[in-house]
Amino acid sequence: ERVNVVPFFHHVLDRYEMNKEETVRIDRTIPKESIFLWLDKDKVIQVIDNVMSNALKYSPEDGTIRFKVTKERKRVKIMIQDEGPGIPQEKVDKVFDRFYRADAARSRKLGGTGLGLAIAKEIVENHQGHIWAESIEGKGTKVFFTLPLIGRKRGG
Ligand code: ATP
Ligand code: MG
Repeated sequence: ERVNVVPFFHHVLDRYEMNKEETVRIDRTIPKESIFLWLDKDKVIQVIDNVMSNALKYSPEDGTIRFKVTKERKRVKIMIQDEGPGIPQEKVDKVFDRFYRADAARSRKLGGTGLGLAIAKEIVENHQGHIWAESIEGKGTKVFFTLPLIGRKRGG
């Protein structure tokens, strides 16, 4: 379905502001002008939920989560950044594998099955997008994903 993602992203993030019992702040940077994408809303909500649940899970108590949307020439790029413990360099690509957990001890304590990011990757790729993470240990994690803009004169 054709969706203006500007109000859509605001709406999705509003749900976190209502539900969060934590002291974590969510800081959003979303363009003001409309951006139309072709997407399955429920699936994209699941991508955001899976990435945001990690960001919330790993954030320090007074941490800030940044949600930033950038419109590029042919795609929209979404970044979700936290101030958590980060992911070691050699593991940062593996976190998108099924059942992979980067830190066994911490993961046991915090729960989860290791499927969240694998599902997110499958959904993003079904939308012809990409998903990846960048992280600095001790500083935090950025998860990026892209979704293609609706092209002009490009029937499908
Ligand atoms: P589930 O999402 O199924 O409840 P999970 O959160 O462990 O379980 P994923 O969301 O796929 O699984 O994440 C995989 C692993 O990547 C996590 O176990 C964790 O080690 C690491 N990870 C993911 N996001 C972050 C983050 N924001 N900060 C630090 N580590 C992370
Ligand atoms: Mg998860």
